[in-house]
This record gives sequence, C-alpha cells and structure tokens, in this order.
Amino acid sequence: MYDINNTQQLGESKGGTILPKQTSRVKLAIVGRKKRNDKHKRSKHDINVVWHSCNLCSHKCKSKGDLNKHKRSKHDIDVVWHSCDLCSYKCKKKSNLKAHKQSIHDINVVWHSCNLCSHKCKSKGDLNKHKRSKHDINVVWHSCDLCSHKCKSKGDLNKHKRSKHDINVVNTVFDFTFE
Ligand SMILES: [Zn+2]
Ligand SMILES: [Zn+2]
Ligand SMILES: [Zn+2]
Ligand SMILES: [Zn+2]
Repeated sequence: MYDINNTQQLGESKGGTILPKQTSRVKLAIVGRKKRNDKHKRSKHDINVVWHSCNLCSHKCKSKGDLNKHKRSKHDIDVVWHSCDLCSYKCKKKSNLKAHKQSIHDINVVWHSCNLCSHKCKSKGDLNKHKRSKHDINVVWHSCDLCSHKCKSKGDLNKHKRSKHDINVVNTVFDFTFE
C-alpha cells in the first residue's frame, strides 16, 4: 500500500515538472525552423544577395568564386592549357592530356603482348578478348550431342542444331509423367 502511494506521488510530480520543459523545447524548434527559412530565402529566392556580374556576358553569380569558375569554363580565362607536344591537341585538365597521349600517341601505355602471336593490346581485358577469339583460349565449348560439332556459345549451338539436325531448341523442359 505504502509503495503504491509513493510511485503515484512520483508520477504526479514528474508530470508537473516535464510539462513546461516540453513547451520551451517546442518554441526552440520553431525558432530553429525560422532561421533555416531565412537561409533558404537567401539561397533560393536571391534575397540580400550581392551579385557578381560577368564583364564578358550577361551571366551573374552569387559569389566571386562562382564567377571565376564561370569565366574559366565559358570564356577560357585563367585557364592553364595543357598542350600536347605531339599534335595540336590542348585541354584544360592535365589528366585529359595524359589520357589523350595514351590513346592517340601510345605514350606510357603498358603493352600486354600475346604469347601466341605478335599481337599487342593496351589492356589485359583486350588481350583476353583477343586470345579468346583468335586462339580459342578460355573458351567454354558447347558440344553438340548429335555430332562432333563444337560451338563457343550456347546460341551458336542452338543455331547449329536447328540448321543441321532440324531440331527446334526450346528452353522449357517438358516433364512427362506416366502413371
Ligand atoms: Zn560570362
Ligand atoms: Zn597529341
Ligand atoms: Zn594472339
Ligand atoms: Zn551437331
């Protein structure tokens, strides 16, 4: 009996103190939302924005950094050009020049040579493809069960069966059960 009374009292006093705290927290949340709203208004609706106008076109930017970026990309201002020393190619990014030299002038290319012929490839994937198609390496063979014919793909084997053995290959398996 004594215990029940005690907990009831605690519950009441707890409820009494929590209530005002909750309301103040709600107020804080509203203030926070209002502040975020102001920021949103500035960025989305251009309120209090200092504009930086481009002197070469009618473009306007909200920050000097953006304007510099615009000038660089649209008017090629302050661009450090990376020119190819082997042709007239130039680009704004050093990595692009590297890729250009690699693909057009074969510079810095690590060659992958075929050990079965004199063929060379720029990537291991290309070499594997070459080996598969020219030297039948790593080919999974699909053998015909009606003759000695072998194909490199299931599609080819189906084609072969259709044309040579008049078999219409259907992918569904028929399961006949006799009772
Ligand atoms: Zn401009
Ligand atoms: Zn070049
Ligand atoms: Zn080869
Ligand atoms: Zn066959």
